[in-house]
Amino acid sequence: MGAGKGKVYIVGAGPGDPGLLTLRAAQLLREAHVVVHDRLVSRGVLDMIPGGCEVIDVGKGPKGSAGRQEEINRLLVERALRGQRVVRLKGGDPYVFGRGGEEARALAEAGVEFEVVPGVTSAVAAAAAAGIPVTQRDLSSVLVITTGHEGEGKEGSGVDWKALGALEATLVILMGAGRMEENLDLLMGGGLDPSTPAAVIERATLPDQRIVTGTAADIAGRAREAGMASPVVLVVGKVVSLASELGGSR
Ligand code: SAH
Repeated sequence: MGAGKGKVYIVGAGPGDPGLLTLRAAQLLREAHVVVHDRLVSRGVLDMIPGGCEVIDVGKGPKGSAGRQEEINRLLVERALRGQRVVRLKGGDPYVFGRGGEEARALAEAGVEFEVVPGVTSAVAAAAAAGIPVTQRDLSSVLVITTGHEGEGKEGSGVDWKALGALEATLVILMGAGRMEENLDLLMGGGLDPSTPAAVIERATLPDQRIVTGTAADIAGRAREAGMASPVVLVVGKVVSLASELGGSR
């Protein structure tokens, strides 16, 4: 890469276990001048960054604030214009609820070269770590990945929980720790059978991973009793019944 012509790599770090990082991501970490990472990126992955590389943690401060996102966008553009090879490292996959698209757009608008390197998303990996295949021919052929953060009827891109409750699907809910009870109530109001198996997976693929299972009706209470806190993935659907059979290898 010629001097003065930097590039930003928007890279997925996977769900936590460094073994789930892609080979491309590992190579880019070795070659980066600067790594800009979120709070979700695990210690194990950060430990793979060579000593001489600058590391900037942008995972601090008020979550999701627009001002902070703009600052991150500016930082990426500025470093690339300095000629640096920048790795923008995000938990899971950068384009699955990762704001990767917003950053890519800012880079495109600034005329900065960029490349997206997909990662293993927690939406699938957390379920797998609990012994849950997100699709299974005789149980579920539809997979819905949604944020648990947004309420019903929000202007624009709100989540229609009642409509989701009427689907025969595997529902995977990210960022759902704070509104679990409320969201499940809406799903059941929309027709989700309260006895549908459900699981919450906390810190999936990390050494201290925890799993709680139950039903749509009682999983929120069980997760609360266990003191489960973000990051968690909530999986609801018939496929969760396979966890007892297929889980337990970790
Ligand atoms: N881009 C990420 C998602 C970012 S949104 C991805 O593809 O995985 C942040 C949410 O991801 C968290 O609130 C949680 O729901 C989920 N998450 C990410 N890593 C996780 C992990 N190791 N265990 C459980 N949930 C995780």
